[in-house]
Amino acid sequence: MVRLVVILAVLMGVLWGAASDRKVPVLCYHRFGTEVVDSMTIKSAAFTEQMEWLKANGYTVIPLDTAVGYLQGKIKSIPAKSVVITVDDGHKSVYSDMATIVKKYRIPVTLFIYPSAISNAKYAMTWDQIRELETTKLFHVESHTYWHPNFNHEKKKLSSEEYAKSVDKQLGGAKKKLEEKTGHEIKYLAWVFGIYDDTLLVDAKKSGYTTAFTIDRKHASSTDNMMALGRYMVISKHTIKDFERMVNGSEEKMPQGKNNLKMTY
Ligand SMILES: [Zn+2]
Repeated sequence: MVRLVVILAVLMGVLWGAASDRKVPVLCYHRFGTEVVDSMTIKSAAFTEQMEWLKANGYTVIPLDTAVGYLQGKIKSIPAKSVVITVDDGHKSVYSDMATIVKKYRIPVTLFIYPSAISNAKYAMTWDQIRELETTKLFHVESHTYWHPNFNHEKKKLSSEEYAKSVDKQLGGAKKKLEEKTGHEIKYLAWVFGIYDDTLLVDAKKSGYTTAFTIDRKHASSTDNMMALGRYMVISKHTIKDFERMVNGSEEKMPQGKNNLKMTY
């Protein structure tokens, strides 16, 4: 009897372990257009092809919020083939090129933006455009710091006191500003240039973010630190086969450096 209980307990532990290891691929885009002007610009036709591929292969694009809820165990299940789409930087081509495709396929998209650029930099969207996109309920804004600093450079350049102040502005300040501008809570952060360290992870949590994303090429997993979840940056050189390997998990199983998909700055 005792033996049976022990076996059952072990079995339940194994099952529980399997159930708690939850994973979702999160994609990270930057710019869109009819022509490839740089490596981070995805041709609209290529993006359409990717969305078609997802549809044809039974994938569901789920909101980032749902994926995070699932990773935290608050949402019990999501479609077996789920994928999340995020776009960093608030480039104007999101409004001019990507939005039409998003509306056509009715897919949820999270925009990680840094407020200093919006209605200010020539390459960025305006607050009006962002509000218009959020009105569709397909787009949702989250934080990408205040003005997109390189934290490694900042750390070297500034005194520790100045650096702490800067980090607070970039994390807490951006959250506050974006909440004022969008009228909704900002819970998530995308690390700029994918740069983070143990201290920044703690700082982000203290600033009120529940979850943060890197560009470490792996699925976002419940076994990872919630302040450093992986994402796959999609760039112009990626073929539909590369795209398939990102979403189906085979890229993350490939030996490091063998996949030819690493993005560095
Ligand atoms: Zn960025």
